[in-house]
Amino acid sequence: MRKFIIAGLSFVYVFLLFFPEEISPYYALTGILILLILTFSPLLKRESDAIIIGILISIFTLLTGYYSSITIFLFIPFFLSLMLKEIGYLYFLPLPYLSTLRNFDLYNVLLFSLTTLIFVVGFIKTNREKNKLEKELNEIESSPVLPTNMDEELVKNVLQKGKIDHRFIIDKFYESLYSTLKMIYSLIKPSGIAIFLYDRKVQNYVLITGKGIPKINKDASLKNSPVEISIKDKKVIIDNAYFDTGKRLGYYQEDIKIQSFISVPIEIEDKVEGVVVADKIQGEFDEKDEELMRQFSSEISSSLSLFRYSEVSTQEAMSFRGLHLLARMLGGEIETDEIVPEIIKTTKFIFEGSFVALISGKSPYYNVYGDIEAQEILIESSICETAIKNQIILLKEDLSKEKRRNIIFKGEPKLNACSLIFCPFINSHLTGGILILNRLPKKYTERDKEIVSFIADLSGTGLEKAWMYSREKEKAIKDGLTGLYNHRFFQESLSNAIETAKRNGALLGLIMFDIDHFKMFNDRYGHQIGDMVLEKVGNIIQNNIRKSDIPARYGGEEFAIILPDTGLENSYTVGDKMRKIVEEKGIKIGDKEINITISGGVATFPKDAVSKDELVKAADDALYRAKSTGRNKIVASSKRIGK
Ligand code: GH3
Ligand code: MG
Ligand code: MG
Repeated sequence: MRKFIIAGLSFVYVFLLFFPEEISPYYALTGILILLILTFSPLLKRESDAIIIGILISIFTLLTGYYSSITIFLFIPFFLSLMLKEIGYLYFLPLPYLSTLRNFDLYNVLLFSLTTLIFVVGFIKTNREKNKLEKELNEIESSPVLPTNMDEELVKNVLQKGKIDHRFIIDKFYESLYSTLKMIYSLIKPSGIAIFLYDRKVQNYVLITGKGIPKINKDASLKNSPVEISIKDKKVIIDNAYFDTGKRLGYYQEDIKIQSFISVPIEIEDKVEGVVVADKIQGEFDEKDEELMRQFSSEISSSLSLFRYSEVSTQEAMSFRGLHLLARMLGGEIETDEIVPEIIKTTKFIFEGSFVALISGKSPYYNVYGDIEAQEILIESSICETAIKNQIILLKEDLSKEKRRNIIFKGEPKLNACSLIFCPFINSHLTGGILILNRLPKKYTERDKEIVSFIADLSGTGLEKAWMYSREKEKAIKDGLTGLYNHRFFQESLSNAIETAKRNGALLGLIMFDIDHFKMFNDRYGHQIGDMVLEKVGNIIQNNIRKSDIPARYGGEEFAIILPDTGLENSYTVGDKMRKIVEEKGIKIGDKEINITISGGVATFPKDAVSKDELVKAADDALYRAKSTGRNKIVASSKRIGK
């Protein structure tokens, strides 16, 4: 579109040169002034627009006729705006002179030329200074040193989100890499330029970025490429008579004929970490190019080591924060169910991508949490068990080189691990440890071992605390003598059980027991023996109920069992079974065996009662009837609501 406008305007301009027209100088001047305003406005950005405006000004200058040798002075502000906008103004210099062809005035033309000359020289001089400064600035900008504000952002990220966006560093690294690449591209003007870096994940050199290559091969590989030699021999290769396909170089997808290439290894501490290659379809590389490429390579190298250093320090920051949070968290009052996931989470956070497990228990039974979950397993003769037993910290670089053994327990899922760290812990109630695994060899360092060891220590004390906490909690709800729930807990549980039964339209059974003639028993054998009997009966109850049943010591020698989802008949059966067991199992005191019996009453919700107190009363009434009708029996509540 612009091309047509330029062609059209040029035609008009040439036409006017040969067939001059004149308009009122006021109109022409107004036109020029509007154009000048346009020139200074941000609308004018491109050279093609400048050409259009330049020709239009020239046309208006021509149209002033006799005055055109004066109006050419208006070209000076036009040039000025082009200079400021860095548009090539020199091409436009002939325009004002063309406009004076018809009405030539030597004095004016000379004056114009002189003014323009002073302007241009002045501008070029200041521009040179500016360019110098700019170049210096550019060098600073494109130098591979990672911007310092990045660290600040990283730290902020770590502190605010509690995690670090790895992509952020990577992006910054690539950004700086690419800007250096662009610079070198413009300096040595190759056809294509590409950077390969060693990727530890795939254990090969992968293409990182390139420029000037029409179709980069995404799966670029240096296999069988002459570039490979420069990696192997750690040397710069310049082949100015390569004359082979671009494909063979490794990064071109299309079959382009390449005349020459230069390949420079990127080294960090004597190890080749990558290679930078440039090629020319036509032409050769000279010593100056080699020097530049070497410089470029060393810049990438320092950029890369800085990048890695920054990665390492970020990781340090992360682990520090993780450990700090964990220690703080474990300092609070907490339960095992809460601390275990926190330990796993923190360990996974610090050792991203690693398999993590926490093992804890009391020999020989252990629980495993984390990436494998298992309850009450035997860890016999596994790697972890040996370490727990001997309290040794393990750091293994490559398990695949050792004789195969179970890592945690027999029958564990396949863990495919090469690197391993295991740090055991021990406290007064539990033993265990923290295990981290990675399928790559040599993944962990001595430093990692220290971190895991610290986590294991924290876990040991944390779990000990949780253990004591749970014991205290149990004390509050359990009866010390029998190990059954206490009266208070019984009352709470019965309320909850009735609410649940109401909600689900389910049944609920309640059995109340009382030991027969216990007073007499106490009197004859003493309270201590009496307590032993209570303990024994408690055990019998505990061992003969379902998991969902709630057994309690209701009072002195009275017991109760809440049986969720159980009707009268089944509740009665449970009660009678208990009665029989108690009757059959005598209590041994010295060589003597004493027989005891119990009586029981059974009531169910909602048939016998619809509230907690009613239900207890109904069962108690039934128990009273068992007592009054001969003892050593279970009686079901006769109270029936409804039917
Ligand atoms: P019954 O067959 O009618 O139940 O006769 P009983 O003698 O068992 O009568 P009751 O149930 O009223 O007896 C309660 C006795 O249980 C009173 C007390 O001596 C005894 N007792 C209550 N709590 C304890 C305890 O914690 N330890 C011991 N050893 N005895 C207890
Ligand atoms: Mg009693
Ligand atoms: Mg009694």
